[in-house]
Amino acid sequence: CGIVGYVGNNQALDVVMEGLRRLEYRGYDSAGVALLADGQVVTRKRAGKLANLEKELADNPTPPATAGMGHTRWATHGAPNDRNAHPHVSHVGSVAVVHNGIIENFAALRSELEANGIEMSSDTDTEVVAHMVEAEFDAVDPAIEGRLAEAVRRVCNRLEGAFTLVLTHAAAPHTVVGARRNSPLVAGIGEDEYFLASDVSAFISRTRRAIELGQDQVVELDRERGITVSDFSGGPAETQEYTIDWDA
Ligand code: GLU
Repeated sequence: CGIVGYVGNNQALDVVMEGLRRLEYRGYDSAGVALLADGQVVTRKRAGKLANLEKELADNPTPPATAGMGHTRWATHGAPNDRNAHPHVSHVGSVAVVHNGIIENFAALRSELEANGIEMSSDTDTEVVAHMVEAEFDAVDPAIEGRLAEAVRRVCNRLEGAFTLVLTHAAAPHTVVGARRNSPLVAGIGEDEYFLASDVSAFISRTRRAIELGQDQVVELDRERGITVSDFSGGPAETQEYTIDWDA
């Protein structure tokens, strides 16, 4: 339902939680965050209102992190409980993903993963994406720039339906990748920091510079390399930066 991603110099948790609060009006049944802290993916998630997630974060604080993501869920596949709340993490624990929309062919993808011995830890259509990106990341030449973006493109080509995705990988600690088909995604450009959201209102207090992602595009936010947008086949995509000129 609501999605926020961040990489930069500030504490990712603060940016992500502020973004989720700003998207709160949409309605949702669960909320969660994933942070990249010291090469580890750390998640906190709770069914119910953001206040439940805030309480969980207070009881169970997260280490400092400058990259992360957040999600408020409107369940379509799987009950609205803690286990099915996003972010979802791959079996190895390296990949975290949040998703808006529906992966229509998730059942076939799940059977394929299960045939390879991967056990699901949720009832969502989303979780397959985490496991698939984990495998593709390992298959991409580690020497290439944008390894996570390449893994995400390969996976997106196998997905049907509607999705806004935001992903991180523990081995790419300064990178956050987003992708979209039939569902909105906007990137924000700050001073040495970058944002992703399902709606600009999530980051409007932090930057007015934005890029609206087009259909079937992947965006990589990297602290050193900045923003790179490509289409699902890896070709460069046309983008137009604009200034958000309305008040939050
Ligand atoms: N289909 C996903 C789920 O049920 C995402 C729902 C959403 O857009 O919040 O977990």
